[in-house]
Amino acid sequence: MFTMGVDIGSASSKCVIVDGESKIISQALIPVGTGTSGPQRAVEAALEAAGLSQMQISHVIATGYGRNTFEAADERVSELSCHAKGSFWIFPEVRTVIDIGGQDVKALSISPEGALKQFAMNDKCAAGTGRFLDVMSRILEMDVSELSEQDEKADSVVPVSSTCVVFAESEVISHLSKNVPIPNLIAGIHQSAASRAANLMKRIGVENPILMTGGVANNKGVVRSLERQLDMQVKTSPYSQFAGALGAALIAQENHK
Ligand code: ADP
Repeated sequence: MFTMGVDIGSASSKCVIVDGESKIISQALIPVGTGTSGPQRAVEAALEAAGLSQMQISHVIATGYGRNTFEAADERVSELSCHAKGSFWIFPEVRTVIDIGGQDVKALSISPEGALKQFAMNDKCAAGTGRFLDVMSRILEMDVSELSEQDEKADSVVPVSSTCVVFAESEVISHLSKNVPIPNLIAGIHQSAASRAANLMKRIGVENPILMTGGVANNKGVVRSLERQLDMQVKTSPYSQFAGALGAALIAQENHK
């Protein structure tokens, strides 16, 4: 029996297929999200990689910001439940999850049995989200995937004190006009994002071990800055960005049974 989870975010669409033993059969990511062809393309890519047809999928759960627009879903489940489920599969010891996606930041505390105990969320402004980092990378004329490597070269941190993306954009432009070293400025941008995440985590109580999920987990500069601010280790996984879709596929399996 195969089930599918589709996570339709603001920035990307993810699809994961699992088998009856909770093993991942395939995963696909298309870097465009809700309101685009992304969800359908992610589904097609995951089916192709698995060598399966849609008919062979017993149950489909959609999650994420755009889940209500995905008509092919049998069910829709909240991102929080899916992230908790997916994170527990990735790392069963996990007690705190920090998820930084395209337009929100979520902190989750997880029980030893994998249940969601508590959460805190910022979905009201772009501060500290993937969108914040995307905007900053555009001003710096580089791809968001290049930020981490630049951050490694920093020898000090140029603080970016404005949390609002619009004001932070002006602040970064002003630093650029003063010719501050780019790696130090990027370290300041990462510190700003990580401090928003750390504050959110502290609201629910930070317990070890910590897993970071969402696309920003690919940005090791943010991960390292978060570790420094918490003085704790923050784990990531190649499946970090797929946590929501994976959780949806696993819940689909339980619900189908
Ligand atoms: P959503 O689920 O809201 O669509 P994601 O969890 O997919 O968002 O995260 C998208 C964000 O992840 C992007 O805005 C970007 O900042 C970040 N991101 C994605 N891929 C990378 C990468 N390779 N390196 C650095 N950051 C990345």
